[in-house]
Amino acid sequence: MKRCFVCYFHEIILKRKNRAFFERHLKENVEKALAGLPYDSIRRLSGRILIELVPDSPVEEVGARLQKVFGLVYCCPAWSSVQHMEQLQEDLWSLVQSREFDTFKIDSRRANKKYPLNSQQMNEHLGAVVGERSAKRVRLEQPDLTCYVDIVEDYAFLFFEKLRGGMGLPMSSSGRVVVLLSGGIDSPVAAYKVMKRGCRAIFVHFHSLPHTTPESLEKVRKLVALLNDYQYRSKTYMIPFADAQRQVVAFTPEKTRVILYRRIMMRLAEAIARRERAHALVTGDAIGQVASQTLENIRAISDAIQLPVLRPLIGDDKEEIVAVARRIGTFETSILPHDDCCSLFVPKHPETRARLEGIRKIEGELDIEKIVGNALSEMKIEKTEFHSHMEAELATP
Ligand code: ATP
Ligand code: MG
Repeated sequence: MKRCFVCYFHEIILKRKNRAFFERHLKENVEKALAGLPYDSIRRLSGRILIELVPDSPVEEVGARLQKVFGLVYCCPAWSSVQHMEQLQEDLWSLVQSREFDTFKIDSRRANKKYPLNSQQMNEHLGAVVGERSAKRVRLEQPDLTCYVDIVEDYAFLFFEKLRGGMGLPMSSSGRVVVLLSGGIDSPVAAYKVMKRGCRAIFVHFHSLPHTTPESLEKVRKLVALLNDYQYRSKTYMIPFADAQRQVVAFTPEKTRVILYRRIMMRLAEAIARRERAHALVTGDAIGQVASQTLENIRAISDAIQLPVLRPLIGDDKEEIVAVARRIGTFETSILPHDDCCSLFVPKHPETRARLEGIRKIEGELDIEKIVGNALSEMKIEKTEFHSHMEAELATP
């Protein structure tokens, strides 16, 4: 029997008219996710992707990587047997033999309807052999051991474990977005959420070097490297923001500073979106979380640009956001102490109910085009390759 992984897609993908498009993206993403690991082949079967392994494939690592592939519902570490029932029985027994259990069940599926036995008959044939030889009982509700059998095309797969896949839609199947990535907890989670829906993220970070430390950029790079696990290659625009802040501080009242900073950030991000052919911007705002995130201010900030701003965390409480950040592994990096450009020059009493007309008028005192143009002319683009965080970790003693 050959070791393999059988991966299942989301039903939604199967029902869509553009199924072939999604399947192609998924297969390509599985190939990218397994880059650098030894395996034999990756192929599309009906509603599934089959990864055939070689003896030195690291099964756990393959599983861990597949679990981050969006669009997969389950990834099952499996054995490829044969369809002939007697041999299938022997193969199943050889796998079950060494396992500890008191109760078991067989859970058969048949995608190939030409197979002579239906799933109930398969359960009976296989269950009889396991039951007789092990002298253990069948239990349909919560057995110790579930033996999954899947008959697809000419294959017969056996497995005992279903690992949860990345869910959502395949990476890049929904187009591109520009994510405003700070070093905080929220924006990496916002990025993850839209990435999970098939959006490729282009990252934009605003820094205030030399007023902020180089470590704050390192932190952003680390966050990008973690998020890059889901999209395999990333681009980050590092945009200097100190000059814009100085202009705002010099020419506008203290109270509205944060809103003006944000409006400038939005314009810069929109310029990157045009350049990258992205359809929307993404931020980590949640209603009322901080002063700049009241409804009035959200409106005053979005007013600066034309592209839609997606705010996937808009209705989330901090606890919910933190739970996701922990699960995807960005939390530990996000809470490292850092100085954000936004913690510089912040007013003591920021405006919480910005009036659009007033904001536009105050902004008229600034040469916005010049501020935006200067920042863009000094931005730096950084590229992140797949699994660079692992290499970075290996390199640090
Ligand atoms: P986060 O945890 O993501 O930093 P926050 O709760 O601190 O969010 P704000 O500081 O008000 O909230 O920022 C709101 C959003 O604006 C962020 O989620 C992010 O999308 C964007 N943003 C803020 N600062 C920056 C920055 N320096 N670079 C890029 N985007 C930023
Ligand atoms: Mg922040």
